[in-house]
Amino acid sequence: MKAAVVRAFGQPLVIEERPDPEPGPGQVLIRVEASGLCHTDIHAAGGDWPVKPTPPFVPGHEGVGIVERLGDGVTWLAVGQRVAVPWLGHACGRCEHCLSGWETLCEEQRNTGYGVDGGYAQKMIASAEFAQPVPDGIDPREAAPLTCAGVTTYKALKVAGVRPSQLVAISGVGGLGHLALQYAKIAGATVAAIDITDDKLALAKELGADIVIDARVQDPAEVLLRHGGANIALALAVSEDAFATAYAGLRRGGKLVLVAMPAHGTLRVPIFETVLNGTSVLGSIVGTRQDLAEVFELHAAGRTRVIYETRSLEAVNEAMAEVSRGEVAARLVFDM
Ligand code: NAD
Ligand code: ZN
Ligand code: ZN
Repeated sequence: MKAAVVRAFGQPLVIEERPDPEPGPGQVLIRVEASGLCHTDIHAAGGDWPVKPTPPFVPGHEGVGIVERLGDGVTWLAVGQRVAVPWLGHACGRCEHCLSGWETLCEEQRNTGYGVDGGYAQKMIASAEFAQPVPDGIDPREAAPLTCAGVTTYKALKVAGVRPSQLVAISGVGGLGHLALQYAKIAGATVAAIDITDDKLALAKELGADIVIDARVQDPAEVLLRHGGANIALALAVSEDAFATAYAGLRRGGKLVLVAMPAHGTLRVPIFETVLNGTSVLGSIVGTRQDLAEVFELHAAGRTRVIYETRSLEAVNEAMAEVSRGEVAARLVFDM
């Protein structure tokens, strides 16, 4: 099988021919049909974060495909079934986080395309308990972006407790942002979308953003405050400045949800204003299996649109460069 491999941080990925991996007990072998390119994969290949993967590794945590073989003891999935393999590739199931519905915080979790090989390959292994069945009728190329971009932003809005009367700011209308915008609209909120490219701003308008802010020529905080300030701001842009402006655009009692993870990123929060305004700053990491099931249900019901373009796996390096330059229509998906 073919796989795109990170051999060293900051170096182009290498397309390799490898033997098919063997599913161990509790695992399945999947023939990958489609695999999304999340900006996290670019951070992974760059070694951007304090906790790093160990090269060589295969990135990708939006892999969708057909179960081809079952490892010992797998009863929950069947051969021929379509599944998605998210970032949360495995969690212990026993710790306080797993037991309280926060498996995303499990300290023993394994992360697909980071700690274990991921979806940039024709075949991949997944833990059967964490491979999410994809409902019939969802195109695998649409299921792929939902598997991280969808579930992550759906969860971030859940964590923020979004309500219909609220103004929600979506900072960055990329892979994550274009779905975040739709979930905020489904929740009934008024949505302000912020980006720095004409295409993304046009897309935001098309997807129903009520307010569109071009951060190249407008101060997002000033525009948000003119509308009363955001109740919730999701920081989805890979830019520290964008975090600071989103914070500044909150109304009293507002919540800033940190989701994007720029390399070496820090956010300086003014103590006085944070205290007096009762501001919350929260981190949010992907979503649970239940969150992903809900995301797929919404899509199967026709309530979300996934905007994507396909690429071949061989074009992986150019694809990453395109996403870094913000030149793509929301998400790139490798069509296997
Ligand atoms: P993306 O590249 O598809 O989207 C980023 C968007 O931000 C682009 O549209 C870009 O034009 C826009 N942007 C850049 N600078 C901006 C600025 N100053 N103001 C406003 N918009 C700006 O990336 P993505 O795949 O959506 O991922 C975004 C980030 O989220 C990455 O850092 C990724 O690692 C992170 N992420 C986090 C989680 C999590 O669980 N917390 C999950 C997935 C991705
Ligand atoms: Zn991701
Ligand atoms: Zn656990």
